[in-house]
Amino acid sequence: MDYALALQTNKISKRFGEFTAVNNASLEMRDKEILGVIGPNGAGKTTFLNLLTGYYIPDSGTVVAGGKDITKLSPATRASLGIARTFQLVHVFDNLTVYENVALASIRKRASGNFSIRMLMKNLRGTATEQEVQMNLELLELDHLKYELVGNLPLGSRKRLELAIAFTSDPKILMLDEPFAGLSDGEIDEVVKVIRQHRAGKSILIVEHKISKLTEFADRLAVMHEGQIIRCGTCEETLNDSEVRRCYWKVS
Ligand code: ADP
Ligand code: MG
Repeated sequence: MDYALALQTNKISKRFGEFTAVNNASLEMRDKEILGVIGPNGAGKTTFLNLLTGYYIPDSGTVVAGGKDITKLSPATRASLGIARTFQLVHVFDNLTVYENVALASIRKRASGNFSIRMLMKNLRGTATEQEVQMNLELLELDHLKYELVGNLPLGSRKRLELAIAFTSDPKILMLDEPFAGLSDGEIDEVVKVIRQHRAGKSILIVEHKISKLTEFADRLAVMHEGQIIRCGTCEETLNDSEVRRCYWKVS
């Protein structure tokens, strides 16, 4: 093996009652790569991501990151180890401004666990947090929108904000669940730009349906089908694989 691993799953499974959503799924995520994960609706991709980030604990199998068994760690503990994520449906606060959303992320990071929304209301003027927030807003090219209420922004800007906030915590490993869903081609290009700008030093897993966009910048591609990772390789290898073609495109 001539590459380092960022994260690895060993035959993880997750059942909901009788139904097995993730079934003995094994995947290796290499250090500093962008790994795309595709698969039909209902294949188990979001559940798999929830297992990697601690929102679910697998019924069996292990998750290892940086050589450490993280299978049973909470999302907060995983975040403190540098594992961050975004959601299929955007998770930002619509009733707060762009500035307040970025500030909240900074406060949260510094307050190591126990923080209250009241802390946000404290005057940040002159504090290190305020400087950090301002720096992040400029870095993320969101400064001109900082007083906009997030709920008034188009979906593309909200997704970009969520992604930008995830990057401000400087994660080692970042997981993105359908970052392009619902976006126009122009908005997708903006999201791709943010990913390209901030990818250095990070390992990024992206669940997406827009394969043509994904393969423009992903290093490798995995396919999930009925809860299993059926193939993982270079984008070309994966897309030309006969089982992938049969399962994904029903090509015989
Ligand atoms: P994908 O993200 O690939 O579309 P999901 O991981 O969201 O797939 O879902 C995989 C399967 O698991 C689906 O059939 C879905 O209905 C089922 N599922 C997901 N979450 C739950 C849950 N909390 N309870 C019961 N079934 C679930
Ligand atoms: Mg999903």
